Amino acid sequence: MDNKIIIIGGGASALMLASLLPKNSATIIESNAKLGAKILVSGGGKCNITNELMGTQYFLGDKTFVQPALKSFSERALLRWLERQNLMPVLRKETQYFCKDSAKELLDILLKESKKQKVFVNEKVLDVSKRDEVFYVKTDKRTLTADAVVVASGGLSFPKLGASGIGYDIAEHFRHSIVKTAPGLVGFTVQKDQFFFKELSGVSTEVVIKIGETLCKGGLLFAHKGISGPAVLDASLYWEKGKIEVDFLPNFSWESLKKSKKQLSSLLPMPKRVTKAFLVQLKIDDKIGTKITEDELLLLRTLNHYSFAPAGTFGYSKAEVTKGGVNTDEVDALTMMSKKVEGLCFTGEVLDVTGRLGGYNFQWAFSSAYSCAKFLTRDKNEN
Ligand SMILES: Cc1cc2nc3c(=O)[nH]c(=O)nc-3n(C[C@H](O)[C@H](O)[C@H](O)COP(=O)(O)OP(=O)(O)OC[C@H]3O[C@@H](n4cnc5c(N)ncnc54)[C@H](O)[C@@H]3O)c2cc1C
Repeated sequence: MDNKIIIIGGGASALMLASLLPKNSATIIESNAKLGAKILVSGGGKCNITNELMGTQYFLGDKTFVQPALKSFSERALLRWLERQNLMPVLRKETQYFCKDSAKELLDILLKESKKQKVFVNEKVLDVSKRDEVFYVKTDKRTLTADAVVVASGGLSFPKLGASGIGYDIAEHFRHSIVKTAPGLVGFTVQKDQFFFKELSGVSTEVVIKIGETLCKGGLLFAHKGISGPAVLDASLYWEKGKIEVDFLPNFSWESLKKSKKQLSSLLPMPKRVTKAFLVQLKIDDKIGTKITEDELLLLRTLNHYSFAPAGTFGYSKAEVTKGGVNTDEVDALTMMSKKVEGLCFTGEVLDVTGRLGGYNFQWAFSSAYSCAKFLTRDKNEN
């Protein structure tokens, strides 16, 4: 046997797993020239590692599957682990932990810790098979054998950083089912009625987006192709098709408006360009508050529940994550091992678990890796 454990992919989940496993017990195979490419670009270059507010409610997928991993390696446990490596993430946006200056701080730690394993970069896994208790991992350079294989190859988002569907192909080869995938944490393209959004490209405003019963609060960024920004990315997790409702004026007190001598473009708490664009749409002049008629007030109040159907999303090339993935009904929640194939495990984004915006996806990548590491290093004499 060439290897005890082969880890497919060299991203966040793989590197945490490799760090936790005993020395020389695993081989990482990564198609990129470098490990952890996505970590470097994450969180605007500062990597939002985790979140003070942790719980299964921040995840899409089967919450009973997510729970044990989050419990065994919680955000506190992750922060303690990082502290032991001298990384003290800083709290930003109230509850989100980021690297102080650069995502490289986290990557460097993971690289240092995982150096104890064998690493093959620039090597693409093509398929995996199993015969007589041995896994055969075929790459574009060779075929390796192993006792166990961990598929940590992520999802389909950001193909320019190495994303591929290999994890799903391997899962299907072993008769696992895949929950339909879609781009997540991604901007929306718009239909003709909202083409005026594009003229506001680069402007951001605070909103609350309502999709079903879910509220997504934060910035909405008007973009060249449609809309983006934290609230929109978060909302994309819950959208399949149909309408979304945007409150462009959350908490605005309409009573004060009719008494004000200010013009609407100064009065409404949105960037002036945004207010003016909406006034054109609503066919209301940029007049002072005291001159607003009841009918105009009614029209303006529609900005509290501006409803429209996005045309689609910006797609996998811009999506931060992939919704859907390997069906978690067929994977053991305590160990991340396949219920169908002994020794085959899945960790991170390849699984049908998706976190909301705010550091939840790295937390999942790390927590699932921890559960898997615990299982792979178990004392085999234990029951
Ligand atoms: C722009 C951007 C910003 C983000 N910001 C954040 C953030 O701030 N906080 C947060 O929690 N999440 C963030 N995410 C999401 C987060 O990066 C992912 O959820 C996380 O990296 C998933 O970890 P993973 O190890 O499962 O997969 P990945 O990190 O995607 O790693 C999978 C690896 O497998 C490799 N691979 C794929 N196919 C093959 C193959 N055939 N052979 C060999 N190797 C292969 C890939 O090259 C890749 O390196 C962001 C994502 C993006 C794209």
